[in-house]
Amino acid sequence: MADGQWLRVNGIIYRMTQGDLLHKIYSRLRCHFGYTPRWWPGSPMEIFVTAVLVQQCDWSQAWDASQRLKGEKLLRFSSLMDATQEQVESLIRPVAFSPTKAKRLVEIASQLVRRGYDSVEPMLDAARETDAVRSELLSLPGIGEETADCILLYAGKRPVFVVDAYTRRAFSRLIAAHPGRRDFWQTGSYKLLQKFFETSLRSAMGHFEEFELDPAVAPMVGICRDYHAQIVELAKHHCLRTRPRCEARGVSGWKGYFFCEKHCPMETCDACPLVEMCPSGRKTSGT
Ligand code: SF4
Repeated sequence: MADGQWLRVNGIIYRMTQGDLLHKIYSRLRCHFGYTPRWWPGSPMEIFVTAVLVQQCDWSQAWDASQRLKGEKLLRFSSLMDATQEQVESLIRPVAFSPTKAKRLVEIASQLVRRGYDSVEPMLDAARETDAVRSELLSLPGIGEETADCILLYAGKRPVFVVDAYTRRAFSRLIAAHPGRRDFWQTGSYKLLQKFFETSLRSAMGHFEEFELDPAVAPMVGICRDYHAQIVELAKHHCLRTRPRCEARGVSGWKGYFFCEKHCPMETCDACPLVEMCPSGRKTSGT
């Protein structure tokens, strides 16, 4: 991995370290979208269930479903295990693939009760090695790397970077991470991309001290959480899959999607905050 990137800012080419580059990107995103301290709210158990349900659906639907399960006292693995798949399915609908996810939740609960857990907190205990917790999460049905890392980061307060499709899309447009490997962002392994972010952020942690982050967690956890949040907001409002809104106002937030109320100041937003430093910006702008 190269230790520097060529970057165009306002027409001038700079060479900077990966950490400096991530800091510059973050500064602009944060200035535009602001900071929501509890971007992924909830108890560890609510975060765990929402992370399982959110795959391929809106976060707000997954969150609402978790609240209905909570209302029926099903946010304990012992009660969830005893619920029928039909009961769980009726509570989580209209989450996408609700029959599959209901079956998955009941199965996860059964497996975790057999391992001695009634809630997710003991599994995420700070005394346990992150790799051990991660392996345990990955052994559960329907939990892949992205979901496991969301749980580790937001519920378990572990300093892991979440790599999702939004990250690959936005960064493939923003930077060529590896000279000679132009498909790094599209086809690089999850672990390779995660290592890029974690190593680069760690090397630049001093620069991030200027930003307010959650004082209840370690600085690296705080920055991993909010960096992921900023990328999600970028991809939802500007860096769309087709016709990205580089030089246009970001698409409006979903009704009732409370992150958007803070994150997208529609009165002042007239372009992606990264357009001046993005090589793809003006070429791909939608209207
Ligand atoms: S300028 Fe356009 S392509 Fe670049 S990050 Fe912003 S929305 Fe995406």
